[in-house]
Amino acid sequence: MQDKKNFYINGQWVSPIEPRSFEVINPATEEPCAEISLGGKKDVDAAVTSAKKAFETWGFTNKEERLNLFEKLYEIYKKNWDQMAKTISLEMGAPIDFSTELQTKTGASHIKSFKNILKNFKFEKTLDEEKNQTILYEPKGVCALITPWNWPINQVNLKVIPALAAGCTVVLKPSEIAPLSSMLLAEMMHDAGFPKGVFNLVNGDGAVTGDALTSHPDIDMISFTGSTRAGALISQNAAKDFKRISLELGGKGANIVFKDAGPDAISWSVQRCFRNSGQSCNAPTRMLVEKSIYNETIEKVREFANKTKVDSPNKNGNHIGPVISETQFNKIQTLIQKGIDEGAKLVAGGVGKPEGLEKGYYVKPTVFTDVNNQMEIARTEIFGPVLSIIPFENEDEAVKIANDTPYGLTNYIQTQDKDKVKRVARKLRSGMVDVNGVGIDGASPFGGYKHSGIGREAGLEGLIEFLEVKSVGGFN
Ligand code: NAD
Repeated sequence: MQDKKNFYINGQWVSPIEPRSFEVINPATEEPCAEISLGGKKDVDAAVTSAKKAFETWGFTNKEERLNLFEKLYEIYKKNWDQMAKTISLEMGAPIDFSTELQTKTGASHIKSFKNILKNFKFEKTLDEEKNQTILYEPKGVCALITPWNWPINQVNLKVIPALAAGCTVVLKPSEIAPLSSMLLAEMMHDAGFPKGVFNLVNGDGAVTGDALTSHPDIDMISFTGSTRAGALISQNAAKDFKRISLELGGKGANIVFKDAGPDAISWSVQRCFRNSGQSCNAPTRMLVEKSIYNETIEKVREFANKTKVDSPNKNGNHIGPVISETQFNKIQTLIQKGIDEGAKLVAGGVGKPEGLEKGYYVKPTVFTDVNNQMEIARTEIFGPVLSIIPFENEDEAVKIANDTPYGLTNYIQTQDKDKVKRVARKLRSGMVDVNGVGIDGASPFGGYKHSGIGREAGLEGLIEFLEVKSVGGFN
């Protein structure tokens, strides 16, 4: 078992001041794979103090200095690609090929993308030469970054890189369930030579460590990715002294399949719902199908679902792995049973573990048809490989069902009709719309409407989140 009990504060690995130990569980074996510490108030205070001190100089570094460090980090990240992939597989169960080609790759892509954005960004802009009006874009200050376990390094790099690019200093608290990839990143930051205190990492839970961090008076901004529940609690802490918040929360994406959907639409839809074992905030978990193709679509979905392999993260291939934890496994099982009890028709999967995978938190890829949008399986974010199919009569009804959810992260459209795409995409109340599987690029803004969050990550908007705007008259 790995000993990972220290925190990275002020440029070095330090023992916790108020030690509480916590075991990281390998979801494929249900056995502990590492021991970490959960930080207390004093640990959080040490990290925030270090970030606050570092901000005095880092906040005034020039773009070139920051770009040089990102360049070094990018090279180090690429050299440690395999180790990062193995670490992610170990802590959260993503199969090794998925971990290498997607989980680790997205982490790299954010470093690269923000390097380009930073290169082109002008921190000083003349608004009106005659009136001598200038706008200065300045770093927000000391940022608390809190992340979940499902796309661990993707979510961490979506925050750490733009925050530092903006000139902010940070305290990262990754998910206590999957903290190892973040600890590896901390080592890379150290090797890249980021000045001490610019990047700090404290592990911990939400109730104590997260609460101490988000209520700390010296934190200027909180960037959070996780559940809507925790997002609401964090917002209350932030409101007390007007900290800026950026929230990336849950989703219950609708995937509208029209009768003129492309030939690969159904296999793509099933794969996207189940990938990462359904543990993606933007997963298309509600499949809305036009009535005239409903029966044939169900047959295709059943076929693709039954072909979806579940297996160990250590094996190569495009199967799905276990879900993250026993808690999550039990929650998914309860929701599958709820779907059956509510009268939805189970056409693939169901409760219990797949045959031969009794050890590990493995879930059967599950499909319900004849789902009504008011059923719990259509309203709750299940965060497992569970697909709900809902029939619709026409375009208006499809849009109405898609928008009838508290969430608004990503919706999907499958049709060959360009005019229909334009009409429907504009009517969907979500931060992202993916048409025919084209995808949302890593450099496009990522975020949601309604209960899916506040603000945007990635792209230019992802950098701007971490900036203050200062108008100066007479600067030149
Ligand atoms: P979670 O909210 O339980 O935990 C996320 C992080 O917040 C963890 O680091 C946790 O320790 C911390 N936390 C929990 N309670 C806290 C509190 N009261 N104060 C401060 N910090 C607290 O979520 P999770 O189970 O780790 O992740 C799954 C959730 O994340 C899902 O709802 C998913 O949709 C969401 N998610 C959203 C996006 C997005 O970009 N919109 C991306 C990935 C995941």
